[in-house]
Amino acid sequence: MRTWSLLGATLFALLAGCEGADDGAGDGTPLDAAPDSAVESDAGADSDAGGDAAAEDGSENEASADGESEASTEDAASDDAPDSETGPEASASDAGCKNATLCALADEQRAADRMEALVNDPDPTALPQFLTAVPKGGDLHMHLSGAIYAETYMEWARAETLAGTTKYCINNSSLALATSCSSGVSPVPSPGDALFDQVVRAWSMKDFVPGAETGHDHFFATFGKYGAISGSAHHDDCLADVMERAESENQIYLEPMLFSNSTASSKGSDVWQGGTLTTAALPGFHAALLADAGWPASVNAILNDIQKAETGARQILGCGGSNPSPACRVQFRFMVYISRSGGGPGVFAQMVAAFEAAKVEPRLVALNLVGPEDGTAALNAYDRQMEMLGYLHGAYAGSSPLHISLHAGELAPKYMPSGYTISGVNHIRKAVQIAHAERIGHGVDVLGETDPDALLAEMKQRDVMVEIGLSSNIQILEVSGDAHPLGRYIQEEIPVALMTDDQGVSRSSMAGEYYRAVMAQGLDYKQLKKLARTSLHKSFAQGQSLFTSIDSLKSVPECSPTVATTYGDPPTPACKLFLDASPRASLQWELERRFREFEAAQ
Ligand SMILES: [Zn+2]
Repeated sequence: MRTWSLLGATLFALLAGCEGADDGAGDGTPLDAAPDSAVESDAGADSDAGGDAAAEDGSENEASADGESEASTEDAASDDAPDSETGPEASASDAGCKNATLCALADEQRAADRMEALVNDPDPTALPQFLTAVPKGGDLHMHLSGAIYAETYMEWARAETLAGTTKYCINNSSLALATSCSSGVSPVPSPGDALFDQVVRAWSMKDFVPGAETGHDHFFATFGKYGAISGSAHHDDCLADVMERAESENQIYLEPMLFSNSTASSKGSDVWQGGTLTTAALPGFHAALLADAGWPASVNAILNDIQKAETGARQILGCGGSNPSPACRVQFRFMVYISRSGGGPGVFAQMVAAFEAAKVEPRLVALNLVGPEDGTAALNAYDRQMEMLGYLHGAYAGSSPLHISLHAGELAPKYMPSGYTISGVNHIRKAVQIAHAERIGHGVDVLGETDPDALLAEMKQRDVMVEIGLSSNIQILEVSGDAHPLGRYIQEEIPVALMTDDQGVSRSSMAGEYYRAVMAQGLDYKQLKKLARTSLHKSFAQGQSLFTSIDSLKSVPECSPTVATTYGDPPTPACKLFLDASPRASLQWELERRFREFEAAQ
């Protein structure tokens, strides 16, 4: 952990404390950005850098060697670094360092020193600018609808109303977007209108001050208020928007939670007529769903949404034209999301549809359960939902590549309903042990679960990764600073990466998450870099990881550093073959290339 000076701590307090970085009251970082500035910012865009990252199609790759490389960066940094077959030591010696890895390490240290100095810089924009430009890898936990800023949704609504395609208005009492506009409504406001700021505050955490309404409740209430425009019809617009935002922050990969499958939910309710759906009944119900004549529509609903979202987003960004947006090089895979509070048959049918769709759609990589974990219906359904996933994990082993990533442990004692406790429900443990979740979203309550030391040890042993949402955790759960388990996860060597969750609602950005990680969690540059690397190493992009160990940075042998080259340099022919066969490794190599470029410029 990095320690910062009194000046740095004071600066942090000046920048963030008054807005409640530690009290759950709201926006909190100087990187909170209105959508236009976020999209149009060119800070850190690296817009002329390497647009040839991974291929899009991404069939599963098993082609590379499975042994560990003996030539990690640590090895290459030693005097015994292997001779390069591809060239002399020109670049290394020119730079005054002994080999390519040592040169890279020197650049890295310079970047680390620079960031440390910026923490104490009297200019409050200096560190945010640095963190915007830092290469960040991927965002593995983002709700597509919650990622869009209120201003952007209103802009779309005004444009469609003007064009006559859909008439939108604002309900005067709830401030929700509506399409039924006969009475008690106002036109969708424009910037400068009195109603505009009210709507922004209702649809997000902007200026939120807890009172009669908690941050928890205000946050979750936002989704329904702009729900009229955040559905499938606008997934292409939403995807294009988050791709532009990612590009502006030097991110190269996204795994949005895209689609909620009402077709499958209805089918589940129709097909199941047996009362309470028990675990023992799952195999029979599963077979009945697949045998139902109308079932294919449930799978096709997912396939169609993915196809439409990507095709539309690429069209919006001009990706097929002569002047494509730089955002076109941001890559993505998708998750299906399922509401925790739905009825059992509908939830199970949505899970089945996701496993089936992933058999034929490589862009669909995972499913996730969403909605407040501390809702009574969600708490009561949790164990059965874990058992459903446990059953499907076994039933589809070897036949569907769908991964399981679950919000789990997004809980705080103060928001648990009467009669429930963190150690009584043990959500993370059940997600890992019963549902076989490979990644956990939030994991905030880990130290409150039964026998947390054993749980942490099991997560490490299973290599379960935790997606960390610092802004979200402050705003929804009021958990931050030392009360947040990020430091403990790092201490226990459990893989972690930062994520934005709902950056439109939070008024945040990935750079803002990095800022919180530095200022409120005390992370240093090298720790941030490890988080960025972890975000791609633990992504669900297809193919073998470049690294066999993120801790030691050992790579597959094809791509091991040499005297003249290290990660991110033009790859050797053998390494290029490996990268071409693995979309995930190709993304990782591009991240390393961006790190080399960024650090060399510090
Ligand atoms: Zn989430």
